[in-house]
Amino acid sequence: MARATASVEIERLIQLLARLPGLGPRSARRAALHLVKKKEQLLGPLAAALTEARDKIVTCEVCGNIDAVSPCTLCRDEKRDRSLICVVEEVGDLWALERAQVLNGLYHVLGGTLSPLDGIGPEDLSIAKLIERASDPQVKEVLLALNATVEGQSTAHYLMDQLGGAGVTVSRLAHGVPIGGELDYLDEGTLAAAVKARKVM
Ligand code: ZN
Repeated sequence: MARATASVEIERLIQLLARLPGLGPRSARRAALHLVKKKEQLLGPLAAALTEARDKIVTCEVCGNIDAVSPCTLCRDEKRDRSLICVVEEVGDLWALERAQVLNGLYHVLGGTLSPLDGIGPEDLSIAKLIERASDPQVKEVLLALNATVEGQSTAHYLMDQLGGAGVTVSRLAHGVPIGGELDYLDEGTLAAAVKARKVM
């Protein structure tokens, strides 16, 4: 049997931290040690922030974003262009697009992609809600900003079919050479997509 090296409390902290994405048992141990060392500056405020997040953060009933209010701050923002809905897989994708400050429309978080092998069908994602939102006469365009993966693209095709009767323009992100990218280093898929989506200069 392994010898116990830390108290139950510390072990529990390590085990919980190890469940976070990107943190294995080793980094969880280091993080736990760091937190305990910085009890006043870090552990206390973190515990308070976690409690506050648990009590206040909700999923937006309209778009699926997470915020302290529902509808979320983005959905409530009167300055946003209500004619455009940008569809993303996860909240993290929404945040990435917001950081890039390229869109001023509204969002819709699907909650994943269709994946028959994993038993994830249309009813498991926020698709019915999207169709309902897209049918609002003030919505003119639905931008499918899904990942360039097999699942992301087959979900985009499915959505394109479903949105056929909603009376909106359906667009998707361009696939191409990344900014600063060198052709020699690109994978064939990216290169092929860039050639297919070429533009006349
Ligand atoms: Zn929202």
